[in-house]
Amino acid sequence: MRQIATAIALIAAPVVMAGAGAVPASAQDSVAREIEDLGGGLHRWTSGNYHSMFLVHDEGIMVADPLNEEAATWLRAQLKERYPGLPITHVIYSHSHPDHAYGGRALDDGATQFIAHELAAETWELNRALVRRPDITFADSFTLALPGAGTIELAYWGQNNGKGSVSMYFAEHDTLHVVDWIVLGRLPYRTLGGYDIGGMIASTRAVLADVPFTTFVGGHADMGSREDVEEYLSYIEALHSGVLSGIIAGRSLEEIQQTLDLSAYSHLKQFDAWKDENIEGVYNQLVDDYYVTMRPEVPEPGAT
Ligand SMILES: [Zn+2]
Repeated sequence: MRQIATAIALIAAPVVMAGAGAVPASAQDSVAREIEDLGGGLHRWTSGNYHSMFLVHDEGIMVADPLNEEAATWLRAQLKERYPGLPITHVIYSHSHPDHAYGGRALDDGATQFIAHELAAETWELNRALVRRPDITFADSFTLALPGAGTIELAYWGQNNGKGSVSMYFAEHDTLHVVDWIVLGRLPYRTLGGYDIGGMIASTRAVLADVPFTTFVGGHADMGSREDVEEYLSYIEALHSGVLSGIIAGRSLEEIQQTLDLSAYSHLKQFDAWKDENIEGVYNQLVDDYYVTMRPEVPEPGAT
């Protein structure tokens, strides 16, 4: 029998230390953590500004990114308390970045199978990351069938953020989970370090075209609908197109920051704080990665 969590949310109480001789709490001890039941065994779990997922099925529990050792240790205790006797059967990594992928050993029940895209596995090996290595890797797509809980369809859409970044589609729940390259309700992170703006656009277009999801859960910020993902796509398209047009017209980064009108998205969180940094990030990618200013028809930056 599949077990359904009844608690809606649980906030981890900060560890309050008092009295001389107490062991100081680490910074991680005051991180707010919670579990939200999305129905049908699917859950979003949160540690600070990070979200991940878990899915309870007839024979155990699948967990997405472990996030870090402290978060994964906390989640493991929650799972053992809520679902006594159910093993963690699978851990699925969303991508290579260590702030989402560390801590997997805390979720390893011995027979737990860890799954990642092959490019993530290659990156961890090349860069000596202390990530619990995957037992299963794949190149394009991978479908995991879980008894009583439908399938999880993993797909790789190309470069977008980190290495080997995949989408997770929980088919029975019509829910898509993507980490970092789709962000709802908030601007993408600052200067888009580690991102590829062209890949973010292409991958987001692809999941909207090919995956019939109705609910979206990101690795940061808000949950949302298909329409929210469409709005996110329109933002990154407007950001890219506006910066590109400015470069082709010979404008400097500062001129583009002053003139590009993205006010249609001013309701998104961090708009005022990060809009100019988003523009800077796309500008630098177009210059350094896409070589737009090396085209003979494009004037020197700031030439107008
Ligand atoms: Zn992230």
